[in-house]
Amino acid sequence: MRNTKIVCTIGPASDTRESIRRLAEAGMSVARLNSSHGSPEDRRNLIETIRTVEQSLDRPIAILHDIAGPKVRTAAMDGTVTLAAGSTVEYVEGTTTTAQRIGLSHDLTAVEPGDRILLDDGRIETTVTAVDGDVVTARVKNSAELRGRKGVIVPGIELGLPTITDRDQRELTIAAENGVDFVAASFVRDGDSIRTIERALADRGATIPLVAKIERGVAVRNLTDIVDTASGIMVARGDLGVEIPLESVPVVQKHIIRLCRETGTPVITATEMLESMIRARRPTRAEASDVANAVLDGTDAVMLSGETAVGDHPVRVVETMDRIIRRVEETTDYDDSRKQHVPAPGSQSDALAHSAGLLGHDTDAAALVVATASGKTAVRVAKFRPSIPVIAATPSRSVCRRLALSGGIVTGPPTATATSTDEVIYIAVGSALDTDVVSQGDRIIVLSGPRNDEAGTGTSNVLKIHTAIERD
Ligand code: PEP
Repeated sequence: MRNTKIVCTIGPASDTRESIRRLAEAGMSVARLNSSHGSPEDRRNLIETIRTVEQSLDRPIAILHDIAGPKVRTAAMDGTVTLAAGSTVEYVEGTTTTAQRIGLSHDLTAVEPGDRILLDDGRIETTVTAVDGDVVTARVKNSAELRGRKGVIVPGIELGLPTITDRDQRELTIAAENGVDFVAASFVRDGDSIRTIERALADRGATIPLVAKIERGVAVRNLTDIVDTASGIMVARGDLGVEIPLESVPVVQKHIIRLCRETGTPVITATEMLESMIRARRPTRAEASDVANAVLDGTDAVMLSGETAVGDHPVRVVETMDRIIRRVEETTDYDDSRKQHVPAPGSQSDALAHSAGLLGHDTDAAALVVATASGKTAVRVAKFRPSIPVIAATPSRSVCRRLALSGGIVTGPPTATATSTDEVIYIAVGSALDTDVVSQGDRIIVLSGPRNDEAGTGTSNVLKIHTAIERD
Protein backbone atom coordinates (compact mmCIF):
# COMPACT_ATOMS: atom_id res chain seq x y z
CA MET A 1 0.00 0.00 0.00
CA ARG A 2 1.27 3.46 -0.94
CA ASN A 3 -0.35 6.57 0.56
CA THR A 4 0.73 9.19 -1.97
CA LYS A 5 -1.12 9.00 -5.27
CA ILE A 6 0.37 9.44 -8.75
CA VAL A 7 -1.23 11.68 -11.39
CA CYS A 8 -0.08 11.08 -14.98
CA THR A 9 -0.59 13.49 -17.86
CA ILE A 10 -1.72 11.53 -20.90
CA GLY A 11 -0.30 12.61 -24.26
CA PRO A 12 1.00 11.21 -27.54
CA ALA A 13 3.46 8.94 -25.68
CA SER A 14 0.71 7.32 -23.61
CA ASP A 15 -2.73 7.74 -25.13
CA THR A 16 -3.43 4.21 -26.36
CA ARG A 17 -5.52 1.72 -24.44
CA GLU A 18 -2.49 -0.49 -23.82
CA SER A 19 -0.31 2.41 -22.58
CA ILE A 20 -2.99 3.66 -20.20
CA ARG A 21 -3.48 0.16 -18.81
CA ARG A 22 0.27 -0.17 -18.25
CA LEU A 23 0.43 3.24 -16.52
CA ALA A 24 -2.41 2.17 -14.21
CA GLU A 25 -0.70 -1.12 -13.42
CA ALA A 26 2.51 0.78 -12.63
CA GLY A 27 0.65 2.98 -10.13
CA MET A 28 -1.30 5.78 -11.84
CA SER A 29 -4.44 6.71 -9.87
CA VAL A 30 -5.45 9.83 -11.79
CA ALA A 31 -5.17 10.50 -15.54
CA ARG A 32 -4.74 14.18 -16.45
CA LEU A 33 -5.93 15.50 -19.80
CA ASN A 34 -4.06 18.67 -20.74
CA SER A 35 -6.26 20.93 -22.86
CA SER A 36 -3.35 23.21 -23.79
CA HIS A 37 -2.63 20.71 -26.57
CA GLY A 38 -4.80 18.95 -29.14
CA SER A 39 -8.53 19.48 -29.66
CA PRO A 40 -11.61 19.09 -27.45
CA GLU A 41 -12.47 16.09 -29.64
CA ASP A 42 -9.16 14.46 -28.60
CA ARG A 43 -10.30 14.82 -24.99
CA ARG A 44 -13.62 13.10 -25.75
CA ASN A 45 -11.82 10.11 -27.30
CA LEU A 46 -9.30 9.91 -24.47
CA ILE A 47 -12.01 9.92 -21.79
CA GLU A 48 -13.67 7.01 -23.58
CA THR A 49 -10.38 5.09 -23.76
CA ILE A 50 -9.62 5.65 -20.05
CA ARG A 51 -13.11 4.51 -19.03
CA THR A 52 -12.70 1.38 -21.15
CA VAL A 53 -9.36 0.59 -19.49
CA GLU A 54 -10.85 1.19 -16.05
CA GLN A 55 -13.42 -1.55 -16.65
CA SER A 56 -10.60 -4.10 -16.86
CA LEU A 57 -9.07 -2.97 -13.53
CA ASP A 58 -10.16 -3.67 -9.95
CA ARG A 59 -9.85 -0.03 -8.89
CA PRO A 60 -11.02 3.33 -10.21
CA ILE A 61 -9.00 5.72 -12.34
CA ALA A 62 -10.04 9.35 -11.89
CA ILE A 63 -9.97 11.74 -14.84
CA LEU A 64 -8.66 15.26 -14.23
CA HIS A 65 -9.57 17.54 -17.14
CA ASP A 66 -7.12 20.44 -17.04
CA ILE A 67 -8.57 23.58 -18.64
CA ALA A 68 -5.89 25.89 -20.08
CA GLY A 69 -7.47 29.09 -18.69
CA PRO A 70 -6.55 32.67 -19.45
CA LYS A 71 -2.94 32.32 -20.55
CA VAL A 72 -1.42 34.60 -23.17
CA ARG A 73 0.47 32.65 -25.83
CA THR A 74 2.66 33.59 -28.77
CA ALA A 75 1.06 33.08 -32.21
CA ALA A 76 1.35 29.62 -33.77
CA MET A 77 4.23 29.37 -36.26
CA ASP A 78 6.33 26.78 -38.01
CA GLY A 79 9.97 26.83 -36.91
CA THR A 80 11.53 29.48 -34.71
CA VAL A 81 12.63 33.12 -34.68
CA THR A 82 15.86 34.24 -33.04
CA LEU A 83 15.61 37.01 -30.48
CA ALA A 84 18.96 38.76 -29.92
CA ALA A 85 20.05 40.12 -26.54
CA GLY A 86 19.79 43.94 -26.54
CA SER A 87 17.40 44.06 -29.51
CA THR A 88 13.94 45.63 -29.40
CA VAL A 89 10.71 43.71 -29.99
CA GLU A 90 7.09 44.83 -30.30
CA TYR A 91 4.22 42.85 -28.80
CA VAL A 92 0.84 43.06 -30.54
CA GLU A 93 -2.32 40.99 -30.54
CA GLY A 94 -2.03 39.02 -33.78
CA THR A 95 -1.25 35.83 -35.61
CA THR A 96 2.25 36.36 -37.04
CA THR A 97 5.64 36.56 -35.40
CA THR A 98 9.00 37.89 -36.65
CA ALA A 99 12.20 38.70 -34.75
CA GLN A 100 10.95 42.31 -34.48
CA ARG A 101 7.23 41.86 -33.85
CA ILE A 102 5.66 39.08 -31.75
CA GLY A 103 2.00 38.18 -32.34
CA LEU A 104 0.08 37.25 -29.17
CA SER A 105 -3.32 35.76 -28.32
CA HIS A 106 -4.15 38.84 -26.19
CA ASP A 107 -2.78 42.39 -26.02
CA LEU A 108 -0.44 43.40 -23.19
CA THR A 109 -1.40 47.08 -23.09
CA ALA A 110 -1.97 47.02 -19.31
CA VAL A 111 1.82 47.01 -18.78
CA GLU A 112 3.99 50.03 -18.04
CA PRO A 113 7.63 50.81 -18.85
CA GLY A 114 9.88 48.79 -16.52
CA ASP A 115 7.52 45.76 -16.29
CA ARG A 116 8.99 42.39 -17.23
CA ILE A 117 7.45 40.21 -19.95
CA LEU A 118 8.62 36.59 -19.77
CA LEU A 119 8.30 34.15 -22.65
CA ASP A 120 8.49 30.36 -22.80
CA ASP A 121 8.38 29.52 -19.06
CA GLY A 122 10.68 32.45 -18.28
CA ARG A 123 13.46 31.28 -20.60
CA ILE A 124 13.28 34.60 -22.47
CA GLU A 125 13.17 37.81 -20.47
CA THR A 126 12.20 41.20 -21.89
CA THR A 127 11.60 44.58 -20.23
CA VAL A 128 8.96 47.07 -21.39
CA THR A 129 10.38 50.35 -22.71
CA ALA A 130 7.21 51.94 -24.16
CA VAL A 131 3.46 51.46 -24.62
CA ASP A 132 1.94 53.19 -27.64
CA GLY A 133 -1.71 52.38 -28.39
CA ASP A 134 -1.92 48.63 -29.05
CA VAL A 135 1.84 48.19 -29.36
CA VAL A 136 4.09 47.34 -26.43
CA THR A 137 7.83 47.77 -27.05
CA ALA A 138 10.38 45.87 -24.97
CA ARG A 139 14.11 45.18 -24.81
CA VAL A 140 15.30 41.55 -25.02
CA LYS A 141 17.59 40.59 -22.13
CA ASN A 142 18.96 37.27 -23.37
CA SER A 143 19.40 35.75 -26.83
CA ALA A 144 17.10 32.79 -27.50
CA GLU A 145 15.05 30.90 -30.06
CA LEU A 146 11.29 31.51 -29.79
CA ARG A 147 8.71 28.98 -30.98
CA GLY A 148 4.97 29.32 -31.57
CA ARG A 149 2.29 28.86 -28.84
CA LYS A 150 4.71 29.57 -26.00
CA GLY A 151 3.36 30.99 -22.73
CA VAL A 152 3.74 34.70 -21.99
CA ILE A 153 3.75 35.84 -18.37
CA VAL A 154 3.75 39.38 -17.04
CA PRO A 155 4.37 38.89 -13.30
CA GLY A 156 2.00 40.77 -11.03
CA ILE A 157 0.06 42.58 -13.78
CA GLU A 158 -3.68 42.13 -14.41
CA LEU A 159 -4.07 41.84 -18.18
CA GLY A 160 -7.87 41.86 -18.13
CA LEU A 161 -8.29 38.34 -19.52
CA PRO A 162 -11.63 36.56 -19.00
CA THR A 163 -11.76 33.78 -16.35
CA ILE A 164 -13.10 31.40 -19.02
CA THR A 165 -11.83 31.75 -22.60
CA ASP A 166 -13.80 30.62 -25.69
CA ARG A 167 -11.53 27.61 -25.92
CA ASP A 168 -12.24 26.75 -22.25
CA GLN A 169 -15.99 26.93 -22.92
CA ARG A 170 -15.65 24.09 -25.43
CA GLU A 171 -13.54 22.05 -23.00
CA LEU A 172 -16.08 22.58 -20.20
CA THR A 173 -18.81 21.24 -22.48
CA ILE A 174 -16.75 18.07 -23.08
CA ALA A 175 -16.03 17.77 -19.34
CA ALA A 176 -19.74 18.13 -18.47
CA GLU A 177 -20.98 15.81 -21.23
CA ASN A 178 -18.53 13.08 -20.28
CA GLY A 179 -18.74 13.37 -16.49
CA VAL A 180 -15.01 13.74 -15.80
CA ASP A 181 -14.09 13.45 -12.12
CA PHE A 182 -12.26 16.75 -11.68
CA VAL A 183 -11.79 19.92 -13.70
CA ALA A 184 -8.47 21.67 -13.06
CA ALA A 185 -8.78 25.45 -13.38
CA SER A 186 -5.66 27.29 -14.57
CA PHE A 187 -4.61 30.82 -13.59
CA VAL A 188 -7.33 31.30 -11.00
CA ARG A 189 -7.17 34.51 -8.96
CA ASP A 190 -9.49 33.83 -6.03
CA GLY A 191 -12.63 32.01 -4.86
CA ASP A 192 -14.70 33.98 -7.38
CA SER A 193 -12.76 32.45 -10.29
CA ILE A 194 -13.74 29.01 -8.96
CA ARG A 195 -17.38 29.99 -8.54
CA THR A 196 -17.49 31.37 -12.11
CA ILE A 197 -16.29 28.02 -13.50
CA GLU A 198 -18.67 26.10 -11.24
CA ARG A 199 -21.54 28.18 -12.64
CA ALA A 200 -20.42 27.47 -16.20
CA LEU A 201 -20.50 23.74 -15.41
CA ALA A 202 -23.88 24.08 -13.68
CA ASP A 203 -25.22 25.81 -16.82
CA ARG A 204 -24.26 22.59 -18.60
CA GLY A 205 -26.06 20.50 -15.97
CA ALA A 206 -22.87 19.25 -14.30
CA THR A 207 -21.46 19.40 -10.77
CA ILE A 208 -17.78 18.54 -11.04
CA PRO A 209 -15.24 19.18 -8.26
CA LEU A 210 -12.71 21.87 -9.23
CA VAL A 211 -8.98 21.63 -8.61
CA ALA A 212 -7.53 25.14 -8.43
CA LYS A 213 -4.07 25.46 -9.95
CA ILE A 214 -1.98 27.86 -7.89
CA GLU A 215 0.28 29.48 -10.44
CA ARG A 216 -0.12 33.22 -9.95
CA GLY A 217 1.15 35.55 -7.23
CA VAL A 218 -2.41 36.80 -6.69
CA ALA A 219 -3.60 33.21 -6.12
CA VAL A 220 -0.93 32.71 -3.45
CA ARG A 221 -2.16 35.87 -1.74
CA ASN A 222 -5.78 34.64 -1.94
CA LEU A 223 -4.91 31.08 -0.94
CA THR A 224 -7.28 30.74 2.03
CA ASP A 225 -10.24 31.93 -0.07
CA ILE A 226 -9.29 29.49 -2.86
CA VAL A 227 -8.77 26.52 -0.52
CA ASP A 228 -12.13 27.26 1.12
CA THR A 229 -13.87 27.29 -2.28
CA ALA A 230 -12.13 24.61 -4.40
CA SER A 231 -12.37 20.84 -3.98
CA GLY A 232 -8.65 20.34 -4.59
CA ILE A 233 -5.46 22.31 -5.13
CA MET A 234 -2.53 21.89 -7.51
CA VAL A 235 0.83 23.47 -6.74
CA ALA A 236 1.49 24.28 -10.43
CA ARG A 237 5.17 24.99 -10.01
CA GLY A 238 5.85 25.59 -13.71
CA ASP A 239 4.00 28.85 -14.15
CA LEU A 240 4.23 29.68 -10.44
CA GLY A 241 8.02 29.73 -10.73
CA VAL A 242 7.75 32.34 -13.48
CA GLU A 243 5.10 34.47 -11.74
CA ILE A 244 6.84 34.59 -8.35
CA PRO A 245 10.57 34.45 -7.59
CA LEU A 246 11.89 30.94 -8.15
CA GLU A 247 13.41 30.84 -4.67
CA SER A 248 9.92 31.31 -3.16
CA VAL A 249 8.43 28.22 -4.85
CA PRO A 250 9.65 25.62 -2.29
CA VAL A 251 8.34 27.64 0.68
CA VAL A 252 5.04 28.38 -1.04
CA GLN A 253 4.72 24.64 -1.83
CA LYS A 254 5.13 23.77 1.87
CA HIS A 255 2.68 26.48 2.90
CA ILE A 256 0.01 25.32 0.42
CA ILE A 257 0.37 21.67 1.42
CA ARG A 258 0.14 22.52 5.12
CA LEU A 259 -3.05 24.53 4.61
CA CYS A 260 -4.58 21.75 2.50
CA ARG A 261 -3.76 19.11 5.09
CA GLU A 262 -5.37 21.20 7.81
CA THR A 263 -8.57 21.55 5.80
CA GLY A 264 -8.55 18.03 4.33
CA THR A 265 -8.34 19.42 0.78
CA PRO A 266 -6.54 17.07 -1.64
CA VAL A 267 -3.35 18.69 -2.94
CA ILE A 268 -1.23 17.74 -5.95
CA THR A 269 2.43 18.75 -6.25
CA ALA A 270 3.12 19.22 -9.94
CA THR A 271 5.71 19.90 -12.61
CA GLU A 272 9.28 18.85 -13.35
CA MET A 273 9.20 16.16 -10.67
CA LEU A 274 11.14 13.64 -12.78
CA GLU A 275 11.68 15.95 -15.78
CA SER A 276 15.02 14.48 -16.90
CA MET A 277 13.25 11.14 -17.42
CA ILE A 278 11.52 12.59 -20.48
CA ARG A 279 14.67 11.28 -22.14
CA ALA A 280 16.87 9.65 -19.50
CA ARG A 281 16.26 6.20 -18.02
CA ARG A 282 17.06 7.38 -14.48
CA PRO A 283 16.10 10.61 -12.71
CA THR A 284 18.65 12.96 -11.19
CA ARG A 285 19.29 12.68 -7.44
CA ALA A 286 17.76 16.14 -7.05
CA GLU A 287 14.53 14.99 -8.73
CA ALA A 288 14.32 11.88 -6.54
CA SER A 289 14.75 14.14 -3.50
CA ASP A 290 12.09 16.55 -4.80
CA VAL A 291 9.50 13.74 -4.99
CA ALA A 292 10.55 12.48 -1.54
CA ASN A 293 10.30 15.95 0.01
CA ALA A 294 6.82 16.54 -1.41
CA VAL A 295 5.77 13.24 0.19
CA LEU A 296 7.31 14.32 3.51
CA ASP A 297 5.50 17.67 3.20
CA GLY A 298 2.28 15.61 3.16
CA THR A 299 1.13 16.07 -0.44
CA ASP A 300 -1.80 13.85 -1.44
CA ALA A 301 -0.48 13.30 -4.94
CA VAL A 302 2.54 13.93 -7.13
CA MET A 303 2.11 14.68 -10.81
CA LEU A 304 3.96 13.75 -13.98
CA SER A 305 3.59 16.04 -17.00
CA GLY A 306 5.85 15.73 -20.06
CA GLU A 307 7.42 12.63 -18.48
CA THR A 308 4.32 10.55 -19.28
CA ALA A 309 2.75 12.72 -22.01
CA VAL A 310 5.65 12.96 -24.45
CA GLY A 311 8.53 11.10 -22.76
CA ASP A 312 10.50 8.13 -24.02
CA HIS A 313 9.45 5.69 -21.27
CA PRO A 314 6.27 6.70 -19.46
CA VAL A 315 5.76 3.40 -17.62
CA ARG A 316 9.30 3.38 -16.29
CA VAL A 317 8.81 6.91 -14.91
CA VAL A 318 5.72 5.84 -12.97
CA GLU A 319 7.55 2.77 -11.63
CA THR A 320 10.42 5.01 -10.53
CA MET A 321 8.09 7.47 -8.81
CA ASP A 322 6.27 4.58 -7.13
CA ARG A 323 9.57 3.23 -5.73
CA ILE A 324 10.68 6.64 -4.42
CA ILE A 325 7.34 7.19 -2.66
CA ARG A 326 7.26 3.71 -1.12
CA ARG A 327 10.80 4.10 0.21
CA VAL A 328 9.98 7.44 1.88
CA GLU A 329 6.75 6.17 3.36
CA GLU A 330 8.69 3.41 5.19
CA THR A 331 10.79 5.91 7.14
CA THR A 332 10.44 7.29 10.66
CA ASP A 333 10.64 10.79 9.13
CA TYR A 334 7.42 10.03 7.27
CA ASP A 335 5.88 8.60 10.45
CA ASP A 336 6.76 11.84 12.24
CA SER A 337 5.18 13.89 9.44
CA ARG A 338 1.88 11.99 9.97
CA LYS A 339 1.51 13.46 13.44
CA GLN A 340 1.40 17.10 12.36
CA HIS A 341 -2.38 17.31 12.43
CA VAL A 342 -4.78 17.34 15.35
CA PRO A 343 -8.59 17.40 15.33
CA ALA A 344 -10.25 20.81 15.04
CA PRO A 345 -11.44 21.82 18.54
CA GLY A 346 -15.12 21.03 19.05
CA SER A 347 -15.50 19.08 15.78
CA GLN A 348 -17.22 15.76 16.52
CA SER A 349 -16.50 14.47 12.99
CA ASP A 350 -12.80 15.28 13.33
CA ALA A 351 -12.66 13.69 16.78
CA LEU A 352 -14.26 10.47 15.50
CA ALA A 353 -11.97 10.35 12.44
CA HIS A 354 -8.87 10.93 14.55
CA SER A 355 -9.95 8.37 17.17
CA ALA A 356 -10.51 5.78 14.43
CA GLY A 357 -6.86 6.07 13.43
CA LEU A 358 -5.64 5.82 17.04
CA LEU A 359 -7.87 2.81 17.69
CA GLY A 360 -6.53 1.12 14.57
CA HIS A 361 -2.97 1.76 15.62
CA ASP A 362 -3.44 0.71 19.26
CA THR A 363 -5.25 -2.52 18.36
CA ASP A 364 -2.74 -3.32 15.60
CA ALA A 365 -5.60 -3.60 13.13
CA ALA A 366 -4.97 -4.50 9.47
CA ALA A 367 -7.01 -1.58 8.14
CA LEU A 368 -9.52 1.10 8.91
CA VAL A 369 -12.62 0.64 6.79
CA VAL A 370 -14.77 3.74 6.27
CA ALA A 371 -18.31 3.40 4.96
CA THR A 372 -18.85 6.71 3.24
CA ALA A 373 -21.56 8.14 1.01
CA SER A 374 -19.97 11.39 -0.11
CA GLY A 375 -16.34 10.40 0.56
CA LYS A 376 -15.98 13.15 3.16
CA THR A 377 -15.59 10.83 6.15
CA ALA A 378 -12.84 8.87 4.38
CA VAL A 379 -11.00 12.10 3.56
CA ARG A 380 -11.40 13.27 7.14
CA VAL A 381 -9.90 10.03 8.46
CA ALA A 382 -7.04 10.05 5.93
CA LYS A 383 -6.24 13.69 6.78
CA PHE A 384 -4.64 12.40 10.00
CA ARG A 385 -2.63 9.88 7.95
CA PRO A 386 -3.24 6.94 10.31
CA SER A 387 -0.50 4.34 10.47
CA ILE A 388 -2.78 1.67 8.94
CA PRO A 389 -4.43 1.69 5.48
CA VAL A 390 -7.77 3.49 5.12
CA ILE A 391 -10.21 1.64 2.86
CA ALA A 392 -13.18 3.61 1.58
CA ALA A 393 -16.37 1.66 0.87
CA THR A 394 -18.95 3.68 -1.04
CA PRO A 395 -21.85 2.82 -3.33
CA SER A 396 -21.08 5.77 -5.61
CA ARG A 397 -18.79 5.18 -8.59
CA SER A 398 -18.00 8.87 -8.90
CA VAL A 399 -17.02 9.05 -5.20
CA CYS A 400 -14.76 6.01 -5.70
CA ARG A 401 -13.04 7.81 -8.55
CA ARG A 402 -12.74 11.12 -6.71
CA LEU A 403 -11.12 9.42 -3.73
CA ALA A 404 -8.41 8.19 -6.11
CA LEU A 405 -6.83 11.63 -5.70
CA SER A 406 -6.84 11.64 -1.90
CA GLY A 407 -3.70 10.45 -0.16
CA GLY A 408 -3.88 7.45 2.14
CA ILE A 409 -7.17 6.04 0.81
CA VAL A 410 -7.63 2.66 -0.91
CA THR A 411 -10.73 2.40 -3.07
CA GLY A 412 -12.19 -0.58 -4.86
CA PRO A 413 -15.28 -0.76 -7.05
CA PRO A 414 -18.58 0.71 -5.74
CA THR A 415 -20.50 -1.31 -3.14
CA ALA A 416 -24.21 -2.06 -2.78
CA THR A 417 -26.32 0.49 -0.90
CA ALA A 418 -27.50 -0.16 2.65
CA THR A 419 -30.01 1.42 4.99
CA SER A 420 -29.16 -0.08 8.40
CA THR A 421 -25.94 0.10 10.38
CA ASP A 422 -25.50 -3.71 10.41
CA GLU A 423 -25.91 -3.85 6.65
CA VAL A 424 -23.51 -0.92 6.13
CA ILE A 425 -20.84 -2.70 8.21
CA TYR A 426 -21.43 -6.04 6.47
CA ILE A 427 -21.00 -4.43 3.04
CA ALA A 428 -17.97 -2.39 4.09
CA VAL A 429 -16.22 -5.48 5.48
CA GLY A 430 -16.92 -7.37 2.25
CA SER A 431 -15.44 -4.58 0.23
CA ALA A 432 -12.32 -4.52 2.45
CA LEU A 433 -11.87 -8.25 1.90
CA ASP A 434 -11.98 -7.63 -1.85
CA THR A 435 -8.82 -5.48 -1.59
CA ASP A 436 -5.42 -7.07 -1.13
CA VAL A 437 -5.02 -5.16 2.16
CA VAL A 438 -7.38 -7.24 4.35
CA SER A 439 -7.51 -11.05 4.67
CA GLN A 440 -9.95 -13.45 6.27
CA GLY A 441 -9.79 -13.24 10.06
CA ASP A 442 -7.91 -9.91 10.22
CA ARG A 443 -8.83 -7.40 12.88
CA ILE A 444 -10.17 -4.23 11.31
CA ILE A 445 -11.73 -0.98 12.51
CA VAL A 446 -15.00 0.05 10.86
CA LEU A 447 -16.24 3.62 10.90
CA SER A 448 -19.81 3.86 9.66
CA GLY A 449 -23.21 5.44 9.94
CA PRO A 450 -26.76 4.13 9.70
CA ARG A 451 -26.82 4.15 5.88
CA ASN A 452 -24.32 4.50 3.04
CA ASP A 453 -26.39 6.21 0.38
CA GLU A 454 -26.67 9.94 -0.24
CA ALA A 455 -29.36 10.48 2.41
CA GLY A 456 -26.96 9.40 5.14
CA THR A 457 -24.17 11.85 4.29
CA GLY A 458 -22.32 13.18 7.32
CA THR A 459 -23.93 10.85 9.85
CA SER A 460 -21.01 8.55 10.78
CA ASN A 461 -21.37 7.68 14.44
CA VAL A 462 -20.23 4.07 14.89
CA LEU A 463 -16.63 3.02 15.49
CA LYS A 464 -16.28 -0.74 15.77
CA ILE A 465 -13.48 -3.25 16.28
CA HIS A 466 -14.36 -6.10 13.97
CA THR A 467 -13.00 -9.41 12.71
CA ALA A 468 -13.15 -9.62 8.92
CA ILE A 469 -15.01 -12.77 7.91
CA GLU A 470 -15.58 -13.83 4.33
CA ARG A 471 -19.13 -13.43 3.03
CA ASP A 472 -21.07 -16.47 1.80
C1 PEP B 1 2.26 24.28 -14.18
O1 PEP B 1 2.36 25.41 -14.63
O2 PEP B 1 3.04 23.80 -13.32
C2 PEP B 1 1.15 23.43 -14.64
C3 PEP B 1 0.90 22.26 -14.10
O3 PEP B 1 0.32 23.93 -15.60
P1 PEP B 1 0.44 23.65 -17.18
O4 PEP B 1 1.09 22.31 -17.31
O5 PEP B 1 -0.94 23.71 -17.65
O6 PEP B 1 1.27 24.77 -17.68
